[in-house]
Amino acid sequence: LVPRLRPFTSTVFAEMTALAVRHDAVNLGQGFPDTDGPAGMLEKAKNSLFGGDNQYPPGPGRPELRAAIARHRQRYGTSYDPDTEVLVTAGATEAIAAALLALTEAGDEVIVVEPYYDSYAAAVAMAGAQRRVIGLTEAGDGRLELDLDALRAAITPRTRAVLLNSPHNPTGTVFSREQLTEVARLCVEHDLIAITDEVYEHLVFDGSEHVPLATLPGMRARTVAISSAGKTFNCTGWKIGWVCAAPELVAAVKAAKQFITFVSGGPLQPAVAYALEHELDWVEGVRRDLQEKRDRLSAGLADAGFDVRPSFGTYFVTADVRPLGFSDAAELAWALPERVGVAAVPVQVFTDHPDEWKYLLRFAFCKQNEVIDEAVGRLRKLG
Ligand code: PMP
Ligand code: GLN
Repeated sequence: LVPRLRPFTSTVFAEMTALAVRHDAVNLGQGFPDTDGPAGMLEKAKNSLFGGDNQYPPGPGRPELRAAIARHRQRYGTSYDPDTEVLVTAGATEAIAAALLALTEAGDEVIVVEPYYDSYAAAVAMAGAQRRVIGLTEAGDGRLELDLDALRAAITPRTRAVLLNSPHNPTGTVFSREQLTEVARLCVEHDLIAITDEVYEHLVFDGSEHVPLATLPGMRARTVAISSAGKTFNCTGWKIGWVCAAPELVAAVKAAKQFITFVSGGPLQPAVAYALEHELDWVEGVRRDLQEKRDRLSAGLADAGFDVRPSFGTYFVTADVRPLGFSDAAELAWALPERVGVAAVPVQVFTDHPDEWKYLLRFAFCKQNEVIDEAVGRLRKLG
């Protein structure tokens, strides 16, 4: 293995899920829902599979899916041409990697916000670029927000792109319009590309608003906006994602993508198109349920003795382990499946500064209520 990929030989999700299975633990580690997507979408997929629709789809994705993606994006007030400005990918993961491979090279710097989704560091390394990590700061109300001073300080003449994820995994924070407006201003001032990971775009709570960076002044032309069906329609195993961006940027991402997977998920693409057109009410139901599940798990964790942090979106809530007498959330996370039969993920594995994030565990609440209650019951034994 080449040196630049040596830090990335395994993923915390695969390891933690394997450990959970070994100990028959309730898995609140890896973020995947335990209920299926909308029946109409599944029916469509079945019809494709049995209807002989099992060969390569077109390189940029099935036309009906690209059209549905463009129409869906109009909810934010931005129009994209389905033929030149939309690209279907093998999940958001491929979109992120292909964007970095296509748009950055050795010597370029990419600004990444920590804690960051694990694939970001690996994808930046695969591209041969360097990551420049900035952190989050706590606003007065306990909400985590971007450290804009750190962002300004991190920009150098070598900076090529900013990689931003909101709603944010693992913290559940949602970046505000004011903050994103300043990010946009800096991108324009320094001629940077923005790569925005919006996979949790629909999963925001308490009236929080998801603001796509591409909708802010000057950003439509310089933003690669990335979404995924996995989190929107409870089908994380389908790996259907997409990119919306200006034609030159989409053409660049496609150049990389076509030699990574070429295409993927052919028979599933019409089903996702159908879901984007007809199942957004279903998604709203999931969003409302998830908000309740967040409350249920947050209350349960607090009851079990954790110091629970507010979550405003995604599948995740974080909690500080210190009130329970632990001084390292990673040590606890690796022991937890065997000790009480619950799996969670330590936030520090998503950072370059584990000491600064040492006390937080991430728990997924995209689970049935009985599963959440069982996990909480088991976690109470820690106290
Ligand atoms: N970005 C974030 C922030 C995620 O949590 C995930 C996991 N779903 C992904 C990207 C990857 O998405 P996909 O499964 O569509 O590749
Ligand atoms: N996105 C999911 C999470 O953050 C897991 C995805 C994966 O296993 N790579 O938990």
